[in-house]
Formats: sequence, structure tokens, C-alpha cells
Amino acid sequence: MSDLLKLANLIDGRLISPQNGQWLDVFEPATAQRYADCPDSDAADIDAAVAAATRAYPAWSAAPVAERARLLERIADRIEVRLEEFAQAESRDSGKPVALARRLDIPRAVSNLRFFATAITQFSSESHAMDGGAINYTLRQPLGTVACISPWNLPLYLFTWKIAPALAAGNTVVAKPSEVTPLTAWMFAQACIDAGLPPGVLNIVHGTGARTGQALIAHPGIKAISFTGSTRVGAAIASATAPRFIKTSLEMGGKNPTLVFADWEASEANWSTLLRSAFSNQGQICLCGSRILVERAVYEPFKSAFVERVRALRVGDPQDPANDLGAVVSRTHFDKVMGHLALAREEGGTILCGGEAVHPQGRCADGWFIAPTLIEGLGADSRTNQEEIFGPVATLIPFDGEDEAVALANATNYGLAASVWTTNLKRAHRVAARLESGIVWINCWLKRDLRTPFGGVKQSGVGREGGIDALRFFTEPKNVCVDLE
Ligand code: NAD
Repeated sequence: MSDLLKLANLIDGRLISPQNGQWLDVFEPATAQRYADCPDSDAADIDAAVAAATRAYPAWSAAPVAERARLLERIADRIEVRLEEFAQAESRDSGKPVALARRLDIPRAVSNLRFFATAITQFSSESHAMDGGAINYTLRQPLGTVACISPWNLPLYLFTWKIAPALAAGNTVVAKPSEVTPLTAWMFAQACIDAGLPPGVLNIVHGTGARTGQALIAHPGIKAISFTGSTRVGAAIASATAPRFIKTSLEMGGKNPTLVFADWEASEANWSTLLRSAFSNQGQICLCGSRILVERAVYEPFKSAFVERVRALRVGDPQDPANDLGAVVSRTHFDKVMGHLALAREEGGTILCGGEAVHPQGRCADGWFIAPTLIEGLGADSRTNQEEIFGPVATLIPFDGEDEAVALANATNYGLAASVWTTNLKRAHRVAARLESGIVWINCWLKRDLRTPFGGVKQSGVGREGGIDALRFFTEPKNVCVDLE
């Protein structure tokens, strides 16, 4: 018998195979070995999922808020008791260090569910009294059946970040996880069944973007789409759905700047945050700072100290707690990142450290590992400094003064996140206000309060997730005007 795991879709409360009997290979990035079959679903499975969600909608949208909140909490409980199993699965599926999945990905998935279970109980709307003797109040009603589409870099973390507010607000959901990392979404489906989520409320359909994703966004039963992924696919979704005027929230790519001023506090804790901000999850976090702008007065000493620290990072088996970086997510992505390293050399960049594949000993010898890489000597308009690489690669760029720092930071088509490092309080606020970015961290990175608006500007995004913004996205406002005269 084969040892391959056979994953399944969740449709109408049951774990089932795709109707066409077709499967996709799933690989473990650390070993390059195939270990699971994932449904290669098509329009027939999407039809069945949307039909189940549509049937479930009247009861779910009318269920008391406390009941919906209780079910989200119960799903969270089921993940929490299996946290280690989920962390191991996330690491195996994506190549990330298991320690990272244990510390970040899975606890955050649990928090997403608990956060929106509570947030929905606090969700309120406005009323507007008119001088002339009328009162308006705004109803916030769920939309119907919505689509949630997520990427591979933070699989369960981002999957639940969309599903939790959609369900809390009373919608039913058809969700499509990335075909590259489907494992924890499949485990999540079982957790939902175990928690007693009514059939059809959440449906999870696996498959490729081109087939499953395309069928989902084209389905007339879908009332809104929450998407996280690349700018290329976000643009395709925006243009495909525009004629139907359905709501979309698009969270897309980034080319985030890290601004280091000469007066920054070079403490060990701050160096360590800078390292994380560039290389966490092998640089495959949309919020990673991939362009490090350093004030010229400290550029050379900063460079030597940073290069030394980057060289000390350990790359290898994601199971080994001594390793800081694991494998990148797939062979295709490995080739893409290596292609960017070749391009950086062609463009005249100097590789200060890294720049090559890593071949660990033992079970990970064939895995897709890349050394953390720093590059200098490239202009702001080089392709290396313009295109999202989404790997363990960052560039160093010197600047003179605040104006040039802001100009360089803003000199891309993206605008997701930025971090600013300075001990000058006034400068920190001035620069934050001038950055074209949805999120700015001052002297920190990836500190996340789930109540805050999350998202980007320019080609990084349209719309905001998180807190009240997510609940507003997943509801339709309706104004009711009552004459009091
Ligand atoms: P991707 O755009 O290739 O895929 C994302 C999801 O969309 C996957 O589930 C995929 O199957 C699906 N998809 C692909 N084509 C589709 C189509 N035509 N119709 C419908 N669905 C389709 O992105 P990826 O490679 O999985 O993820 C990496 C990207 O995600 C990076 O650009 C990264 O910056 C971005 N990202 C952004 C954020 C954010 O919050 N802004 C967070 C994480 C990742």
C-alpha cells in the first residue's frame, strides 16, 4: 500500500474526493520527496460547494451571534489541543522551521478564530439623527456565500484570517487554500467537523488556481472574494470580477523598505529584529523588509556588522531547532529565487553573503535550500530593487538624509509595509506619515494587534483586513431612515 497521504475536499460537512478523480502531487520542500495527493478539483466540485454553502446560508446567517462565536471557539480549541501536530504538518508542507510554525503560524491561527469569535459580539453600527425629525440607522447584514483564497507562505495563519471573520459575520464560505501547501487546511476541515460546524457553512475545495480558483471566482453564487496572493493573480481577479460588481478585498505583494537612520539604537535585540524582518520564513512573508536603506554615515559599519550576523544564520533541516531558516516552498519557487540572484549579478550587484543554494547533509540533501543573501551596489530602479523576490534575499542601499530615505522607500509600485529605525521621535512620526505604505513599524517589526487595519496601497492591495475592517468587508451596510414627525 502507498504511504502517500490522500487529502480531501470538505463539501457539505463531508471529506470527499474530487469528482473527476484527479490528484496533484504534494512535496516536502526539505527533502524534495512527494508525500501527499491533493484533490485537483474543478468546476463540478466548486458547484457542489457553492450549492452546499447556499443551502446552509439561511440558518447560519440567522443563528445567534453567541452560537457562531461558540463554534469558532470550539474549532480553535480543537486546533490548540493538536498544536504540535499542526506545527509539524505546517513545517513539513512548507519547509519552514517547525519552531516557527509552533511559535507563530499555528498559535496565530488559533488567535484569529478566538479574536473574531469575540469581535463579532462587539460589532455595532451607526445611527444618524436628523435635525428635521428623522433617525437613520445602519444595518450590517452578511453577504451570502463568499470565497476565501489564500497563498502558501503562512498557510493556516492566512486561511483562518479570512475564514474566521467571514463566518463570524454570518456568511457561508467556500475556501481555496494554496495547492502548494494544502495539508493544514485538510486538517482544519476535520477540526471543523469535530467542532460540530453545521454542514455547508464552510466548504474547502483544493486545487490549482487556474482551474479550481478560476471556477470559484467565476461562480455566480459567490457574493464577495477575499484574496491574498500575488499582484499578478490579484489583478486577474479584479478584472474578471469587475463586470459583476462583486466586493473584493485584495492583499498582494510587497517590496518593503527598512529605513535605518544613523541614530538608530544598535542593540542586540534590534539587530535580531532586523534579521528576522529580512529572513523570517526564508523571506517568504509579505511583510519582510527586502530593501534595507541605511544612512550613509553608518552604512559601512552597519554593513559589516549585518553581514556577519547574516552569515551566522543556520540553514537546514526545519526539524532541527538549531536552524534559523528552512527550505523555500517549492522547486518552482527555488528556481525563481535563484533566477533573481543571477539577475542581480547581471545587473552589477555585489553579493555580500549567500547567493547560492545550500545542500545540507542527511535526509535534507535534495531539499530546496537557499543561503540568506545580501546584495549591494544596485540602483533603486534596478529590477532587483523593483520586483518581489519573496525569498531570503535583501539589498542594502545607502541614503543621505530624510528626504532621500523617503524617496527611495517610496520608489516602487508596491506599498505594503515599512519599518523605520531611529531614536529621533519627531523624525519617526514625520517619516511614517510620508511613507506610501499601509503599515509602518517604528523600531519594531511584525508586532501585530489584530484590531488594526491590515493591508497595502498601490499594487500591494485594495481594502483592509483585521478587526472592524474585516467585519465591515464581510457585511453589507443598509441605511434605514425612520420619519419621526
Ligand atoms: P498566488 O497569487 O500564485 O496564489 C494565491 C492563491 O490564489 C492560491 O491559492 C492560488 O491557487 C490562487 N490562484 C491562482 N490563480 C488564480 C486564479 N486565476 N483565480 C483564482 N485563484 C487563483 O500567490 P502565492 O505564490 O501562493 O503567494 C505568494 C504571494 O502572496 C506573494 O506575492 C506575497 O507577497 C503574497 N502575499 C501577500 C500577503 C498580504 O497580506 N498582502 C500575505 C501573504 C502573501
